[in-house]
Amino acid sequence: MTAQAEETNLHERERAWMDEAINVATTSVRNGGGPFGALVVKDGEVVARANNQVTANLDPTAHAEVNAMRAACKELGTFSLEGCVLITSCEPCPMCLSSALWARVDRIVFAADRDDAAVAGFDDRKFYDLFEKRPQSMWPAQVEHLDLPNRTAPFDAWLAKTDRIDY
Ligand SMILES: [Zn+2]
Repeated sequence: MTAQAEETNLHERERAWMDEAINVATTSVRNGGGPFGALVVKDGEVVARANNQVTANLDPTAHAEVNAMRAACKELGTFSLEGCVLITSCEPCPMCLSSALWARVDRIVFAADRDDAAVAGFDDRKFYDLFEKRPQSMWPAQVEHLDLPNRTAPFDAWLAKTDRIDY
């Protein structure tokens, strides 16, 4: 295949994966979950797919992307999703975006955006606005610094540990 044909092929497969993520999200609504779906793809194969299960699991962090990345890590037996693409039916919220950075995914592809989510009553845009435009003093949750003399003890122990697994 020529480079251009490969590019077109990848583009088409990405559209198919996104279509699947959107289907996962729509099916999720029918099954009592949130309207979000995500896939993790590695080397052209879907390694995990998940929907939003916040209300089903009583877990505010059970967003589709986080669920998909957790499932992908279990499937691949690793805590790093380097070389993976996160395909998500909606623009990741700041938590999911941070999670994807922690997971070291190569790329993130989304369909609906934060404004679409806001229309449906979700806080994605509100939280983005908090991070991007509001000082922490104006956040609904207070963030406070409590300084203790031993505050770096966990890091000291970490740095002194010769057999640590860096991540
Ligand atoms: Zn999220």
